[in-house]
Amino acid sequence: MTDEKKKTKSETKTNPYSVIADNSFSERPLARQELVDRIVNDPRMHDHKEGFFSCIQCGICTSGCPAARFTEYSPREIARRALEGDPTLLTDDTLWYCFSCYTCQARCPRGNSVACINQILRSIQVEQGYGIKHVEMFSAWGEQFYDKGMGGTPGVFFADIAEAFGPKWAEFIANRDEIRDELGLGGMYPSEQAVSEMQMIMDETGFRDRLVSIGAWGGKDPKKK
Ligand code: SF4
Ligand code: SF4
Repeated sequence: MTDEKKKTKSETKTNPYSVIADNSFSERPLARQELVDRIVNDPRMHDHKEGFFSCIQCGICTSGCPAARFTEYSPREIARRALEGDPTLLTDDTLWYCFSCYTCQARCPRGNSVACINQILRSIQVEQGYGIKHVEMFSAWGEQFYDKGMGGTPGVFFADIAEAFGPKWAEFIANRDEIRDELGLGGMYPSEQAVSEMQMIMDETGFRDRLVSIGAWGGKDPKKK
């Protein structure tokens, strides 16, 4: 008698629960797991890891989200897709509607933070090049911050802002340094030494490289002139 014939009827019967029992339905493809790992291991998710994995899809985040009120964007959907490691998040423009107000984080009953998830996903989008179109217009602010040690209104925006704010604002900006002198306030920007120390931090942390990658200084590294 062959081994096959020795098997009892119950042994050869297919176990109806085998699919569930081997748990294969819940395994993610590797690429998806990498995205999940990247999100939860980011320092911004330090206090939200458990919340990330225990999202109950209640939708409270979406109900209070100002961006969701006016656009097709949904933080509840982002929480679900991030948990699934959905790679289409890396080419999804809707997550740029979020403006980091943190209402979702404050209201989430599980301690999740779609605000942080979005920031991480956006960083990855920029890193991969796809998201550059969403941040390149801000590179002038970054340039000014790097060059002068503080943010402000870069010159390239003066014309538009002057038109919006009117001639009084333009006059104030034109005479700002004199006004500050009269008031005894001194210069507006940090000292050269302070700027140089800040630049050292920005160089070491990769901030300057990141600015160049999104088009600051015309895409040419100022330290490699
Ligand atoms: S509020 Fe929290 S638990 Fe509810 S859907 Fe949003 S992220 Fe998930
Ligand atoms: S942080 Fe973003 S996702 Fe969260 S409520 Fe505010 S706009 Fe919506």
